[in-house]
Amino acid sequence: MSLSEFNLIERYFTGRGVQRADVTLGIGDDCALLKVPTGHELAISIDALVEGVHFPVDTDPQAVGHKALAVGLSDLAAMGAEPAWATLALSLPMADEAWLQGFSDGLFGLAGQYSLQLVGGDTVRGPRVISLQLHGFVPEGRALRRDGARAGDLIFVTGTLGDAGVGLDIAFGKRNVNAADADYLRQRLDRPTPRVAAGTALRSLASAAIDISDGLVADLGHILKRSGVGARIELAQLPTSAALQRVVASTEERYRYALSSGDDYELCFTVPPEHRAAMEQICRQLDCGCACVGVIEVEAGIRLLQGDGIPWQLPSGGFDHFSRS
Ligand code: ADP
Ligand code: MG
Repeated sequence: MSLSEFNLIERYFTGRGVQRADVTLGIGDDCALLKVPTGHELAISIDALVEGVHFPVDTDPQAVGHKALAVGLSDLAAMGAEPAWATLALSLPMADEAWLQGFSDGLFGLAGQYSLQLVGGDTVRGPRVISLQLHGFVPEGRALRRDGARAGDLIFVTGTLGDAGVGLDIAFGKRNVNAADADYLRQRLDRPTPRVAAGTALRSLASAAIDISDGLVADLGHILKRSGVGARIELAQLPTSAALQRVVASTEERYRYALSSGDDYELCFTVPPEHRAAMEQICRQLDCGCACVGVIEVEAGIRLLQGDGIPWQLPSGGFDHFSRS
């Protein structure tokens, strides 16, 4: 490496972004020393992004930095946790300064929006792999888990679904669209917005929550399994963006994107009907919007219903990325 490991850490990662009062000791010693506020639990999540597997080899490094953090923040959001700290294990083939500048700018740009501080990490030479661990706080016993959904609870999702999946198809040249829509959908893929404010606002209202990384059907499926229930989804209620509606003409294809394409990082959560009004009030305050897409039922499995109440089957196969293994 042209740049020594210590210079690299110093130049790109030390002292950048917010300096939090609950960090006694950050980057620079053998361990970081951190204070969890009284009455709170520590929520921890880690994700590894492997170049060529989780992002294409030539991805803009700033987008990689943003997305590595966004996916972790999305996990914290899904638990109703408030972001606090991050640690970063970075494996790099070489000390590529342009890449490090872009990556760290993307990372700290998003971290600043959530008062998140990078408090430590490790830097090694190897294939490009980014492992980011996030730490957040949640008041004791108040985390949003996957196992709390009950029959009769309403199913909500934040934002719009399917954008990242269409963005991916555009990136792979599978769709020809106008530049503005292509850009919007590509941004939704590369720079997802973690729904952190929604997650913490839901703590007192939702019975279960998950973030949508693998598609609504797959991720709602995790809630259903852990909660021992099933669900009915009203396809006409699935929220999709204006860009997606312009790009994807067929209604059934829209359903497929909204139900089974991944990487949207919206939240899916369940709300007891008595909390519906409070929930809708919060929805209006959140800048992301949220839509009621169905209801939890006793019978296991997911039933997809068209506007006229006629059942609809999610086709298996079709596009490559729709196949779930
Ligand atoms: P050690 O050998 O004790 O593990 P390192 O030499 O790996 O320490 O790291 C020195 C300091 O720099 C530590 O405080 C570590 O947490 C921090 N650090 C190393 N790599 C990174 C990184 N990529 N991002 C943030 N902090 C890092
Ligand atoms: Mg080390």
